[in-house]
Amino acid sequence: MRNPRVIVMGPPGAGKGTQSQRVAAEFDVEHIETGAILRANKDVETEYGTPREYMERGEYVPDQVMNAVVEEEVADANGFVLDGYPRTEGQVEFLDTITEIDVVLYLAVSEETLIQRLTSRRVCSQCGTTYHLEFDPPERAGICDVCGDELVRREDDAPEAIRTRVREYENKTVDLLDLYRSRDLLTEIDGEQSPNEVWADIERAITSAI
Ligand code: AMP
Repeated sequence: MRNPRVIVMGPPGAGKGTQSQRVAAEFDVEHIETGAILRANKDVETEYGTPREYMERGEYVPDQVMNAVVEEEVADANGFVLDGYPRTEGQVEFLDTITEIDVVLYLAVSEETLIQRLTSRRVCSQCGTTYHLEFDPPERAGICDVCGDELVRREDDAPEAIRTRVREYENKTVDLLDLYRSRDLLTEIDGEQSPNEVWADIERAITSAI
């Protein structure tokens, strides 16, 4: 069995992060999470400004910046799960020039569910573990179960930024699904199911693609 090359797509709040982590662990591949890479490099100056300026508003960071980030990560990886990239046609075109893809997983979730998930999401400021205030709360309010550090709300999980992120997704990313569908690479997964049920579908899709 080969190390799979996987893209996980879906609107913000669909569960891409949780499921991508599991893909990386179970298939022993690199987890390339562009949002996390950007959060760790928020104030790095590029000719387009800093990532922070875009992210705080919920807007996409320019393709040139994203493509450079991903090129480096993919070059070092023996199999990978791309989480949060590609998000635009320009990013797809670039990705085509640097690697092949085995399967694209689309986590489908209703808009109502994802807004509910994002407004109730809290993340550990230290280790990045995510919680949901209602469905997956930490044992002690405001404290990470894993490392004991403080839980915070991501700046772009504020209501106004959430609206912009969902709009960006609808304007710039939804069309990519058709593109991958036409290449026969797309598997749609019901992202409203429990995390374990979603995982079972994902595992099946990857295993049959490699
Ligand atoms: P995420 O953690 O995937 O929700 O990403 C957080 C933010 O990082 C997004 O709202 C964008 O501002 C930026 N970002 C992450 N990945 C990309 C990408 N592939 N293209 C453009 N912007 C991105």
